[in-house]
Amino acid sequence: MAKAAGKHLTRAMLAARKAMGARANRACPACGKAVVGFFRYGGNAEWGCPDCGASPRERLMNHLIATNVLRVPVEGAILHMAPNEGSLVRRFSAASDYVPADLDPGRYSVPGMRQVDLMALAEADRYDLFYASHVMEHVPDDHHVLRNIWRALKPGGEAWLIVPLWDKPTEDGSFDIPPRERERRFGQWDHVRQYGPDFADRIRAAGFDLEEIDASGIDADVRHLFALDDRLFRARKPGGTA
Ligand SMILES: [Zn+2]
Repeated sequence: MAKAAGKHLTRAMLAARKAMGARANRACPACGKAVVGFFRYGGNAEWGCPDCGASPRERLMNHLIATNVLRVPVEGAILHMAPNEGSLVRRFSAASDYVPADLDPGRYSVPGMRQVDLMALAEADRYDLFYASHVMEHVPDDHHVLRNIWRALKPGGEAWLIVPLWDKPTEDGSFDIPPRERERRFGQWDHVRQYGPDFADRIRAAGFDLEEIDASGIDADVRHLFALDDRLFRARKPGGTA
């Protein structure tokens, strides 16, 4: 509740600054608008876009796509888990075979939502792109899920994964741990682990080639303009022609 209150206050302050004629010297790559700043959320002073609400990770993804670092396979098949980010729904739904999905599809208003349990994902060689942002910290057995994702991708297909990270090694839990303790240890009641940089090792162990794209590696002026943050784990299933 405290988080929500702080967020709204700051968002209101941004609106006031804009109304008073503050110069929009920042920009959001998710909605394309010039903005006077980004609103605070939790410990991040530049979290949300005041126009579209995009988070730093949503802005990072849009920036990487807009600059052709990442290519959306519009002629192919995309499995988009937990499709909360409107700008990415717009980009991915241009694909000829777009599958927005969640364990609990009723929570989303995206057309065509399907029920997908990543623990039971049994498809093979089906997708060109798998996208999941802040999903892997919810699944009971991430080693199993990573292998399922690997199998579901076509050779040369990519999984774009973003998870909450800390600097320490990954700490695993389970749903046997009471929700209040999970919230204390993993930051949210429905998380079962907290990832560290060694998430990379788990991705490679599932058979992927991996590239890590961290916002800190992007040109400082660009990073400042868009208030980019977070790290993308870009995993590629070997093979194919790409
Ligand atoms: Zn925006």
